[in-house]
Amino acid sequence: MALIARRTLLIGSAAAALAGNGAAAAAPPFANKQTAGIYRYRIGSFELTALYDGIWYRPITDAFIGNAPFADVEAALADAFMPADKLATPFTTLVVNTGQRLILIDTGTGGQIAPGAGVLHANLIAAGIDPKAIDLIAISHFHPDHINGIRDKDDNLVFPNAEIAVSAAEWNFWMDDANLNAAPADLKVEFRNQRRIFSGIARNVTRFDPGTEIAPGIEALAAPGHTPGHTVFAVHSGDQSLLVLGDTAQHPAVFARHPDWQAAFDVDGAQAVVTRRKLFDRAAADRMLVTGYHFPFPACGHLIKTASGYEHVPVEWQPNP
Ligand SMILES: [Zn+2]
Repeated sequence: MALIARRTLLIGSAAAALAGNGAAAAAPPFANKQTAGIYRYRIGSFELTALYDGIWYRPITDAFIGNAPFADVEAALADAFMPADKLATPFTTLVVNTGQRLILIDTGTGGQIAPGAGVLHANLIAAGIDPKAIDLIAISHFHPDHINGIRDKDDNLVFPNAEIAVSAAEWNFWMDDANLNAAPADLKVEFRNQRRIFSGIARNVTRFDPGTEIAPGIEALAAPGHTPGHTVFAVHSGDQSLLVLGDTAQHPAVFARHPDWQAAFDVDGAQAVVTRRKLFDRAAADRMLVTGYHFPFPACGHLIKTASGYEHVPVEWQPNP
């Protein structure tokens, strides 16, 4: 086609579109909602499904990081194009299908934490996973955003056929009434929440020690600091591994780049830093895939060691797991 003729044709079709003639020019409706938050990937022969539960923008003040000036925190947030007065806190749970067992690692907020969270159930259904088919729930720690999804808002069990595996150290710390009585008022709320969640189902709860294989290919590793019994899970199949980091670090733009920062929500901030560096060093050296509960969806990727900390490199979305 000659250049002039082609140019005329293009101008002609643009003019037709602008004139609004034809069905294609009808006002398209806005969707006004997000699509399902599901991402599938594989480790060896295991199929993993990351399921989004939503996001909370946690308000923060200069009390948020105990060992860094708030101006540095604000600068880190600005560097990551994040708001300065709140921490983006997304929630992503993980289903591991080993071929024999269907295991859910952490349970989301149960719609009881933040208005922007509580869509795990809808995403499970969208992913074709029946909550009744989950036969094991593995818990990283007892903060409400990890255990509240065991029940719905009306206190009904969401996963009625699941055994629940928890760290013995975590159970012993939070279920100790002496610790409850000694806790400040805001922490007492958490102790009471844990009693509500586990009331009547203690018989379904198995307590493990670090180093235990809680299911074939899923090893529990001690990761104390964020809470006393905080646990990460190493998922192994074939020659591949995934480290499920739980809350070893929250948003990587803050806590991977600044691994020494001690957050107010860590029970023992100094110990959390030691654990974070140890696990991140291992993941970086072994080039292991990692997933973090509060990393941006789909929450999995790799960690690179940098001069001052670590950089999180998210996975590329794959059309086939
Ligand atoms: Zn958390």
